[in-house]
Amino acid sequence: MKQEQEQEEYARCRLCPRNCGVNRAAGEQGYCGETSALRLGAAVIHRGEEPPVTGAGGSGAVFVTGCNLRCPFCQNAQISRERMGREVSTETFARICLELQARGAENINIVTGSHAAPALAAGIACARAQGLAIPALWNSSAYERAETLSLLEGAVDGYLPDLKTLDSAVSRRLFNAPDYPERAPQAIERMIQASPLRFKNNLLVSGVIIRHLALPGLLAASRAVLRCFADRWQGRALLSVMSQYTPAGNAPLKRPLNGREYERLVGWLREFAIDEGFCQDLAPDPGALPDFRRENPFPPALSTPVWHFAAPSSP
Ligand code: SF4
Repeated sequence: MKQEQEQEEYARCRLCPRNCGVNRAAGEQGYCGETSALRLGAAVIHRGEEPPVTGAGGSGAVFVTGCNLRCPFCQNAQISRERMGREVSTETFARICLELQARGAENINIVTGSHAAPALAAGIACARAQGLAIPALWNSSAYERAETLSLLEGAVDGYLPDLKTLDSAVSRRLFNAPDYPERAPQAIERMIQASPLRFKNNLLVSGVIIRHLALPGLLAASRAVLRCFADRWQGRALLSVMSQYTPAGNAPLKRPLNGREYERLVGWLREFAIDEGFCQDLAPDPGALPDFRRENPFPPALSTPVWHFAAPSSP
């Protein structure tokens, strides 16, 4: 995408269902908290994703600053809500991708970039022109518009969307987005049509893994998500059930998932015959939250830092 076209997408921004209409190209910020400048918090080789995403080399996770959903319990709140990050050019973004590839990453895993889709599509194209050969994966909340997803087709190979809830009262209360239950399935359907499941050497090279984070005290919402997956997408996408909810910041849900809730989740996977996919073990201590003030925001066993917004040696 040419730079002028890219800037047009940001003027009267309607890139996501928030429809803010602000002129981000002129420096205004919408609900996502970002202007048209692409800003990143960190890039790491991450070893904690699903096996076909992590592979032997780890996933090349690139954390984009800002977010259009802004969950109150976000583990990455420092970058998604508190704006930690640094502006990068298209060329710098491409260099970061190439560095991740050179360090053995199996893919480029772009985390929460919905509000920056035009810049990221241009960045991936620039990296491809310079030799990026590994798949690019779009890791998002799925609170996205079909028109914006179309900007990514040809640039992105696979998708890792969340499906957080299908309960409008829950999405209104937690995300200030009562239309999430309508928007997210539409976005996921679009992703599945654009990207059929395909693996090479047990690695995802194309396709969709739908992620669902079970929320404590809101298990009925999880049951609806699992049923929806079984009815609509089983066989065309994979489901990844996550149990790692950690109370963070001013999160309204103050405790982790308990053993009884986890057993119910696993029971529903059996009831709906969802036998392909991933289900995180219930860890007794879900572990510390990432800290993006550190060059390596995660524990060393989980990730290796490649780029950090505050590191002077980073490109
Ligand atoms: S991308 Fe940001 S500014 Fe644009 S509509 Fe969404 S929240 Fe609003």
